[in-house]
Amino acid sequence: MATTAKMRAVQVASPGGPLELVEREFPDPPRSGLRIRVEACGICHSDVLTKDGLFPGIQYPRVPGHEVVGMVDAVGADVAGFAPGQRVGVGWNGGYCGTCGSCRRGDFFACQTSTLVTGITSDGGYADYMIAPASAVARVPDALSAVAAAPLLCAGVTTFNALRNSGARAGDVVAVHGLGGLGHLGVQFAAKMGFRTVAIARGKDKEPLAKELGAWRYVDSQAEDPGAALAALGGARVVLATVTAADAMSSTIAGLGPNGSLLVLGVPEKLETSPFLLIAGRRSIDGWYSGTASDSEDTLAFSELTGVRSRNETFPLERASEAYERMMSGDARFRVVLTMAS
Ligand SMILES: [Zn+2]
Ligand SMILES: [Zn+2]
Repeated sequence: MATTAKMRAVQVASPGGPLELVEREFPDPPRSGLRIRVEACGICHSDVLTKDGLFPGIQYPRVPGHEVVGMVDAVGADVAGFAPGQRVGVGWNGGYCGTCGSCRRGDFFACQTSTLVTGITSDGGYADYMIAPASAVARVPDALSAVAAAPLLCAGVTTFNALRNSGARAGDVVAVHGLGGLGHLGVQFAAKMGFRTVAIARGKDKEPLAKELGAWRYVDSQAEDPGAALAALGGARVVLATVTAADAMSSTIAGLGPNGSLLVLGVPEKLETSPFLLIAGRRSIDGWYSGTASDSEDTLAFSELTGVRSRNETFPLERASEAYERMMSGDARFRVVLTMAS
């Protein structure tokens, strides 16, 4: 329990406004929610949605952060399965109702009752404490430190869950396009899943990193056309697209083998391709939604088992603004994680 009635939080007061460190009242959990004492929170590029007001209907001030790891601090009266002192995490999915049509079909990510997103529709993890509905909370294994686990709650689950649901089978050629926060995890997951993993990035200098992360082949997109390079390897079953440049993304479609799929995780403004390419090879372009709390638990367990780890730079909470700029600069290697000294 806290020793003071106030806590620190880093909030955005209005769209486009700065990240400001403030003192806030200590929150009480609702009947169906938990209070979490935050230990670490990753900074994700999607936090720009909160920072700049790019998600419809955000109410300000708002505390960003959806890669949260901490300790259960208080439990609402209606919550089962969690107790104070338990290690937990919260990702992008901010909970679901369990009773709407989508939830009844098991598609919890598409809950129709309300779109709940941590750090967007409710306050997130750039704070000493946060509140989360129990349906949004994942259990975190003891073997992973808070800093190690935090990026796995968004960058990790997004790449892991996309790959494991992609239809690719062990031995298939799977390309991971981009070697940033998502891509450096995607290459590790793909390699550990037994795919012939091809890393695609710009510049010869990234090759040693790609190999170190487990890539079977490296394609320098500045030196050769990624589509042609993948075709020469027999065609990819899946290209996991973590980049945000539309032209770079569509350049890989010609490298998909028959029935291959471009799995889109990065968000360019629009994406163009030739319908002929799609029809002739029965290729497809698919998207993937990160995942829910149980997907996060699977991601954490797989990472613990196989040694997949995010490479992180850490900043204390009070330097959140600097840490955010570091993430936005694109120079961070590879995720930026806030830590809450208590
Ligand atoms: Zn994210
Ligand atoms: Zn629902």
